[in-house]
Amino acid sequence: MSALQRFLAVYDVCPPGSLEDADTFSAFTAESDRFHDAIDEITDEVFHILFNDVGFLQSFNKLCADYIEYAACGEALTTRAGRLKRTAIPVWARLAIFHRDKGECRTCKKSLAAIINQLDTERYDHIVALARFGANDVTNLQLLCEPCNLVKSAGDVPVSRLYQKAIPR
Ligand SMILES: [Zn+2]
Repeated sequence: MSALQRFLAVYDVCPPGSLEDADTFSAFTAESDRFHDAIDEITDEVFHILFNDVGFLQSFNKLCADYIEYAACGEALTTRAGRLKRTAIPVWARLAIFHRDKGECRTCKKSLAAIINQLDTERYDHIVALARFGANDVTNLQLLCEPCNLVKSAGDVPVSRLYQKAIPR
């Protein structure tokens, strides 16, 4: 069974017949709502797994930073140095990061739940700093306490390995 066939079976996508012909497959995927829903479901699942792997997120955001530096995103979005302006972190993103990081500073594991409101934006650190062309994106944020944030500053330091991966490989 091919990977495509396994994907279709697991996600209850039932093609009308064989999809070995490229035109038939293309026509099926263009018309099937269930196929598109399945793609959305697997995208959500992959994001859920990768969102817990901050080592991966750091590597991913370094690639994004290279693009941001190269792409020149325009005056409305960037500083004179070409870096992205800081933007407000949406509430849903703050809650997601707080939940993922268990309310703890990712570097020293000090609980931040008792001393700050979880909506306090000052504890949300850009993994790849804006000064290094990092993005204002939920994948580029982590919880850090104030002392750890000061040590990190805008430096390019490794992310903590304390609970980098939710699922051991
Ligand atoms: Zn800390």
